Amino acid sequence: MDIFSKSERSEIMSKVLAKNNKLEISVRKYLFSKGFRYRKNVEDMPGKPDIVLPKYKTIIFIHGCFWHGHENCDAATLPTSNIEYWTNKVKSNVNRDLRNKQLLINSGWKIIIVWECELKSKNKEQRFSRLLLEIRNSSNHKS
Ligand SMILES: [Zn+2]
Repeated sequence: MDIFSKSERSEIMSKVLAKNNKLEISVRKYLFSKGFRYRKNVEDMPGKPDIVLPKYKTIIFIHGCFWHGHENCDAATLPTSNIEYWTNKVKSNVNRDLRNKQLLINSGWKIIIVWECELKSKNKEQRFSRLLLEIRNSSNHKS
């Protein structure tokens, strides 16, 4: 049973998207300031990766905790109404993420997931420095 109207649902979705867009921009700005060059929202790759670093053969996904079902995460709390709808939605997102990730790994890409909760102000600096290490430790990168 769906007790949500279509407009209520699309309101939630657009909020989710807008928030995620802000996170993506902050990660891109940081990488750019560190001299990394990347492609963004790459349509022709599985999962339409948020950030692709061809030189490092590395892909970064910025995942909203709710939308992508971050396990044991406070920020991943489901809306209080229409729980079944959202549970199924998130579950299918998680499965799709896994499939896409596997496809990319099979093609030789390294995958880094940055979670929304890792970008909260108190965690952000730490996450960003770890991100640099993760990118540079890519075994495919030779320089
Ligand atoms: Zn989280």
